[in-house]
Amino acid sequence: MIQVTKTFLPPQADYQAQLQKAWDQGWVTNRGTLVKELEATLQDHLQSPPLLAMTNGTLPLQIAIKALGLTGEIITTPFSYVATTSSVVWEGCTPVFVDIHPEYLTLDETLIEAAITPKTTAILATHVFGNPCHVTVIEAIAAKHGLQVIYDAAHAFGVTYQGKSIFHYGDVSTCSFHATKLFHTGEGGGVFCKDSELYQKLFYHHNFGHEGQEAFQGLGINAKMSELQAALGLAVLPYMPQIVGHRKKAVTFYQEHLSQYTTLKLREGTQWNYAYYPIIFDSEALLLTAQERLNALDIYPRRYFYPSLHTLPYVSGPDMPVSQSVSERILCLPLSHDISEEIQAQIVNTLTA
Ligand SMILES: *Cc1c(COP(=O)(O)O)cnc(C)c1O
Repeated sequence: MIQVTKTFLPPQADYQAQLQKAWDQGWVTNRGTLVKELEATLQDHLQSPPLLAMTNGTLPLQIAIKALGLTGEIITTPFSYVATTSSVVWEGCTPVFVDIHPEYLTLDETLIEAAITPKTTAILATHVFGNPCHVTVIEAIAAKHGLQVIYDAAHAFGVTYQGKSIFHYGDVSTCSFHATKLFHTGEGGGVFCKDSELYQKLFYHHNFGHEGQEAFQGLGINAKMSELQAALGLAVLPYMPQIVGHRKKAVTFYQEHLSQYTTLKLREGTQWNYAYYPIIFDSEALLLTAQERLNALDIYPRRYFYPSLHTLPYVSGPDMPVSQSVSERILCLPLSHDISEEIQAQIVNTLTA
């Protein structure tokens, strides 16, 4: 069975070697040496701002909203994974959707200002499929209206924009290290934050508000990454060039053989990570036919992202025609660190028959 992605698993010996450090110290969580080593290694590998490892990629979003003290309305994208929207609602804020750009698929920055009200406190945008939002315009709008900016960069591990790690942009940037993401720790995630005061707030929030064993700095939750998760991350990380290299080759194959299909338009100035290969059909009916044909070959692409998040049962607001239309017609093709050219040829032949 070929899925939309496949989790990269390092040789068990590599994982064992990392785990040995936890065993030697009899220490499996509460920010031991492995979590600290993972944070330092990732920051160096990515040339990113300081990061705080967490146990998944959803809590960083919720904790960012909390740490920034956001209330009222948060402008966000309807074309993302459900966690982007659910985090806003979970934190007691109201998501105000702004439609996406039809080619870049990121929040359409030209529509943001019209959605700002006196209740707006922030913009939460997704670098969808690793494609950077128009960060320059978003930053200018945020500065003009006194808004905070959070980027959900769950798909953007390793992406650089205008020569800098994508995690430099926004007041806070979050990532997921889930097993289906490009880099993973099984379950896992992190926040990236340049501002040391805000970083400290994020830190307290992610560990019950603890300041030492007996003092508390406000409200917290438990979002700590365990040593076991960090060990897996440290075992995966050295393979990233290989993983991305194979994906780049696979993407090139799709590009060459599926040129009649619309795919993601990357923003100029982006060094991409080859995390996803979406194609957009002319109609949902054509998508469903292609999906059925591929499924018959035991190949399972995914409808990322469907449905458009403005249709979730716990949100409201105006129609989002672009997101609605794209979400009905977009399919992510299988892509992984070891997808074979034979399988890709089957996919391509099915889609071009
Ligand atoms: C995967 C994902 C998340 C959530 O990450 P988890 O690690 O699964 O909690 C959030 N936002 C986006 C855009 C994602 O794709």
